[in-house]
Amino acid sequence: MRESEDQVAVTADRFMETSQSIGPIVLLGPPGAGKGTQAKRITERYAIPQISTGDLLRENVRNGTALGLKAKDIMARGELVPDELLYDMVAERLRRPDCERGCILDGFPRTAAQAAWLDAFLEGGHSDKSKRGKWLPFVISMDVDYNLLLLRLTGRRTCPTCERIYNVHFQPPRVDEVCDLDGIKLVTRNDDREEVIRERLQAYERQTRPVAEYYQQKGRLVSVDGMGSADQVTEHVFREIANHSPAKVGGC
Ligand code: AMP
Repeated sequence: MRESEDQVAVTADRFMETSQSIGPIVLLGPPGAGKGTQAKRITERYAIPQISTGDLLRENVRNGTALGLKAKDIMARGELVPDELLYDMVAERLRRPDCERGCILDGFPRTAAQAAWLDAFLEGGHSDKSKRGKWLPFVISMDVDYNLLLLRLTGRRTCPTCERIYNVHFQPPRVDEVCDLDGIKLVTRNDDREEVIRERLQAYERQTRPVAEYYQQKGRLVSVDGMGSADQVTEHVFREIANHSPAKVGGC
């Protein structure tokens, strides 16, 4: 009896998680903070899409689109792609119906100007106002020590086939530099080279810190300790999401 009551409670919780509107969630943190990992876990738990501007840009580069051609060299240098090149790409993605209950923004906004653009976009009722654009972003900042970031980034290797991510310091493959799953040689992302990493971390300090300040002033920012294991960080992140009530447009 007790067990079935527990099961009903679990099913009800699961139903709540996958049907409630939680609005856009912004994961903020330097490269290597673990945003990608946490974003994936949030999407699974709440059944909302992850929107990574880095992934969208890399897709454009792979497909040789006009945007991809403009962004390619900028990305290879570890610099930020100019704001106005991104807005159409992000707007198009946010208008899709799968974002109706919410989404995870990973790697966007990265400048205060992008944050202001995003608020204006959501406030403006960017599409069917009755259905979308109802919430302003809730922002989770992941705080990680600089030296740990360097180890995480310089050690990162990806399988070019299945895209599984390893870390030679913390989560090495069974055989050096080879994917456990398909035996393919692992690669270092172009922008994970050490000199590029320095530039990316500096760009973060210069341009993305003001994003945290922007949201802090609006009272929509919480910080989580990103130094623990991925599971510990996830627990903290889920707790913050569960405690958060989405800020309605016009209501804050
Ligand atoms: P990421 O995978 O998020 O680290 O992004 C990889 C690269 O894409 C960055 O180093 C930038 O060159 C570019 N990029 C991704 N998102 C943005 C953004 N919001 N603003 C400007 N550039 C971006």
